[in-house]
Amino acid sequence: MQKLRQLGLLMIFWLITASSTSATQYNLPDLGSPGLVLYDKSMESELGRAFMTALHTDFTMIDDPFVVEYVRQIGSRLTSHLADGRQYHFFIIDRPEINAFAGPDGIIGINRGLILAATSEDALASVIAHEIAHITQEHLSRRFEQFEQGNITSFASLLAAILIGTLDPSAGIATFIGGNSLAIQNQLRFSRIHEHEADSVGIKLLAQAGYNPRAMAQFFDQLHQQHNHSSRPPEVLLTHPVTERRTALALARAEQQKTTQERYLDLKLIQARLTDQRIPLEQLNEKEHEAFHCYKNYLNLTNTPDNAAEIKSCLIQATKNQPGNRLLEIALADIKDRSSNSVSNLLQLKDLYPQDNALAHQIAHQYQHRNDIGSAIAILKHQATITPTKIELYQQISELYLQKNDIANALYFQALRANEIGNIRQFKHLLKEARKHASETPTLLKKINNLLQENN
Ligand SMILES: [Zn+2]
Repeated sequence: MQKLRQLGLLMIFWLITASSTSATQYNLPDLGSPGLVLYDKSMESELGRAFMTALHTDFTMIDDPFVVEYVRQIGSRLTSHLADGRQYHFFIIDRPEINAFAGPDGIIGINRGLILAATSEDALASVIAHEIAHITQEHLSRRFEQFEQGNITSFASLLAAILIGTLDPSAGIATFIGGNSLAIQNQLRFSRIHEHEADSVGIKLLAQAGYNPRAMAQFFDQLHQQHNHSSRPPEVLLTHPVTERRTALALARAEQQKTTQERYLDLKLIQARLTDQRIPLEQLNEKEHEAFHCYKNYLNLTNTPDNAAEIKSCLIQATKNQPGNRLLEIALADIKDRSSNSVSNLLQLKDLYPQDNALAHQIAHQYQHRNDIGSAIAILKHQATITPTKIELYQQISELYLQKNDIANALYFQALRANEIGNIRQFKHLLKEARKHASETPTLLKKINNLLQENN
């Protein structure tokens, strides 16, 4: 019980303590418990790794490359002006709650439910910006009680469950710390200061990235109003209480920034990938409306389509009306290549958008259709050399090797995936399994042995 109590306390500090620097900088009271210690970068990255493993082990992640790419592009637009040298990682959790969170070591999680609830790309970006601000201000991560190394895995799992909202924090934490609600209240009051700070920094990030800085206050307000007060409010409101004062403050801060036209179409196209349910389209103008319906029909296209020609001409018009819209461009290139049984249109786009992982996946998919598994693997492997986000690529490569009955490579790329999600133990285990099948492929065997040696 003592252990659990400590873990619970540790969690509280993790979730709501301030760092000494931001406390001084903003002239905030310091929690100042002598039991707290600053922890170093290596500790933070270790916890980040364990957290990433917990996310991928305990929860289902959205792996639609287009959805992943979309959210990561918003994330990198928002972080591109930061000079903190930090690597940010964006993940989408397949959960219906309207929630997002900032975890340790630059990890930001966004629930499918939040993407579906957002009214505009700016609204979605505003929540992501707010979470990024929690990280830049180091609200979560600068201090915590020393914990035993052995606990890191279970601690990371608990942290993930609380942040994602599958563990009710009011019940969970209260149990853990023996119901000391006064302490929780005091710390929550403290966290309200963090919320305001995250709003303020997040609004600046939004404006710098060209998003409408008013979107944050509007979105929180909308969620607040939509929520039927007899039911449990959306997760994001539980952790981010909306008060009139907070909305007013956020709006006032936004007034100082330039407002821009909000973006809707891409978000709606992404929402169409995530759900079959009706998506509200009131914000779209007539041309965007048409583009949305082309895309929706394209998504429903079967392998033996009788309406492919119709969808193709619809997409040709849509890409003319929405110049530079990558999702529409890729859809059009894909449908052209499908009808001519080639890959040339998609490859042409690849020259334009070399960094786009989703496009690489689409090309691989098209090669796969033509039974050219070798080329599918080659394009994904190449993509993995130029992108920092490789998890989905390694997964796909592994599956393709499996299709070719190449067990050694299938296991090897599963091992690389395990490494990417921070699961070092599984990484080594899978490498050893791969080695058992690699006796006839000396280059792979050498790679495996080198990796095993490096990670010993
Ligand atoms: Zn917050």
